[in-house]
Amino acid sequence: LSQLFRPLDLLGMVYRTIRQGLIDMGAMFDLTDTPAEVTDAPGALPLRVEGGAVRFEAVRFAYDPERQILRGIDISVPAGRTLAVVGPSGAGKSTLARLLFRFYDVTGGRLLVDGQDIAGVTQASLRHAIGIVPQDTVLFNDTIGYNIGYGREGASQAEIQAAAQGAAIHDFILSLPDGYETRVGERGLKLSGGEKQRVAIARTLLKNPPILILDEATSALDSRTEAEIQATLSAVSERRTTIVIAHRLSTIVDADEIVVLDGGRVAERGSHAALLEADGLYAEMWNRQQTEREVLEEAAE
Ligand code: ADP
Ligand code: MG
Repeated sequence: LSQLFRPLDLLGMVYRTIRQGLIDMGAMFDLTDTPAEVTDAPGALPLRVEGGAVRFEAVRFAYDPERQILRGIDISVPAGRTLAVVGPSGAGKSTLARLLFRFYDVTGGRLLVDGQDIAGVTQASLRHAIGIVPQDTVLFNDTIGYNIGYGREGASQAEIQAAAQGAAIHDFILSLPDGYETRVGERGLKLSGGEKQRVAIARTLLKNPPILILDEATSALDSRTEAEIQATLSAVSERRTTIVIAHRLSTIVDADEIVVLDGGRVAERGSHAALLEADGLYAEMWNRQQTEREVLEEAAE
């Protein structure tokens, strides 16, 4: 089902981007550009990041007034902590990330970073503070080095390579005909979903933001590469506020708090152990994934 939603999401974005005459690939994959309806408030000040605490207060949101997507979300992520968001496809998980990046404005409630309502700070400062590894990464028709270096203006070649190493894509790049100068994208080398995800991870490592959002960041990777990158992502998230949107629950068992989103509401919250104990939606998802894994392992034997 999620395979169905993703292309629709992207199509919707392409449509709006073209309609608004903002034909900038950046808007599509990294949300670095702004739809016309989101603007800086008069007199907006830059966000002052202290620890990067994130708070959703009674947040409501609808893309289209006929259909509520978020129906009153209360979530707090203390500075430096990791919150995991799980739940069925279409529950509104990626929407949380888009709202925090202020790609859209909330239709009710508030979103705060270190106590400041994000609707009242400059978008440039907000986006500077947040790094997103999105579900779908669209590459620029440029070199792979450029695509990683885009994470931070003025990054040196050594910094770009260190980020690529962190995202376990450096060796792959060296194996390409022109190394870091290899052209990628529609008019260049086509990268697999997992390779594009690693480019997005490298970009974010380079950006080094105080607040990190991983939206199913390792979902397109095989389990060996996932384990390899998981270690890097865990190390990176240790020092900063992190929101991990996860499909595979095995990747978030250590989160400080897990929120289960269902139908635009928080259905359950707690630690992995507490949620298993509660024997609700999370426990059901966990048991289903464990069974799937056993079946796969047996099939592989
Ligand atoms: P999740 O990440 O939990 O799978 P999303 O936050 O992407 O879910 O989407 C939540 C709901 O909002 C879905 O029903 C989806 O179809 C809808 N939706 C997502 N993006 C848009 C959009 N740009 N316009 C209209 N509806 C959207
Ligand atoms: Mg999603």
